[in-house]
Amino acid sequence: MKLTESILYNNPCYKAGRKLRPVKGLMLHSVGVAQPNASVFINMWNKSSYSRACVHGFIDANTGEVFQTLPWDHRGWHCASGSKGSANNTHIGVEMCEPSSIKYVGGATVKVTDMAHAKACVARTYKSAVELFAYLCKKFNLNPLGDGVILSHKEGHARGVASNHGDPEHLWTQLGTGYTMNGFRKDVAAAMNGVIPADPKPVTVSALNGTAIITYDGNVNVRNTPDYSAPAVTTYGKGTKSTVVGITSDKEFYKLSNGMFLTTNKKYVAFSEEEVVKPREKEEVEVRYNKIAELPDYAKATITKLVDRKVVNGTGTGKVDESGRPADLDLSLDMVRTFVVLDKAGLFDK
Ligand SMILES: [Zn+2]
Repeated sequence: MKLTESILYNNPCYKAGRKLRPVKGLMLHSVGVAQPNASVFINMWNKSSYSRACVHGFIDANTGEVFQTLPWDHRGWHCASGSKGSANNTHIGVEMCEPSSIKYVGGATVKVTDMAHAKACVARTYKSAVELFAYLCKKFNLNPLGDGVILSHKEGHARGVASNHGDPEHLWTQLGTGYTMNGFRKDVAAAMNGVIPADPKPVTVSALNGTAIITYDGNVNVRNTPDYSAPAVTTYGKGTKSTVVGITSDKEFYKLSNGMFLTTNKKYVAFSEEEVVKPREKEEVEVRYNKIAELPDYAKATITKLVDRKVVNGTGTGKVDESGRPADLDLSLDMVRTFVVLDKAGLFDK
């Protein structure tokens, strides 16, 4: 984790000069706009006219670099207040910047233009946040797993100490990162013991061609990311057919030709490969009949007649069956059928 000091000296919050005595916790935020560069926020917020907010740090989404923007024990303006007061009086607030490959399309809903890129950015800010919070927990002697010590803005609101925001879980969830605040707290605790979280394995999509048909008697969610916790963009009803172009590495979702993702769960969806003309896997092994008893019933009379007339003979091994007839006839099914047809036509009864 690279940490650079870049204090917002001009921000009215800095000038207010109040302190956290003591620092009781840490609050994690996400900026809520598709702006990865910490410098953009620092430039915008380092103005005497910017009285809306002030935080203790920004984490750049392109580099993971941490910029400290207030002395850590300064009282920040990062979460406003809720019904029970404000975590501004107790908590340090840090903002994670967000990838340029997302777009806010109303409220906290994002549209993702490049999932792999977006996930990589979020993994970067997550990792730096874990390291920074571990550092701050040590510095201020905080237990990362303690009740209310590390909170997201969203959790702060739920506890009545912050305004009504959903960050940063709103982004983690919509991108299908699998990150949670409980996981984050555990990762911080582990980082305090020197265990830095590994970059998560992203879900990849491999090619698969075919058609998915909704078989479920109801609506099935379709998402813009392969994650069941992501909100549905739309739903498909029974009988809806979609062209499948891929399948996720965890085999949980089909990628559709419209870029969206549909569950592979057979309870809801049936998949069929596109009609492909394939050569027969393997010629069936041809059956050879050696004895009358082995023949299909419809052919027994005809072949017996032909054997008895010496029209059909054995192949010369001298083997005989129970009735003394050759046991080395070596007839294929085609030959047997031909004889039967000719027999029916009366050719052997002249
Ligand atoms: Zn926030």
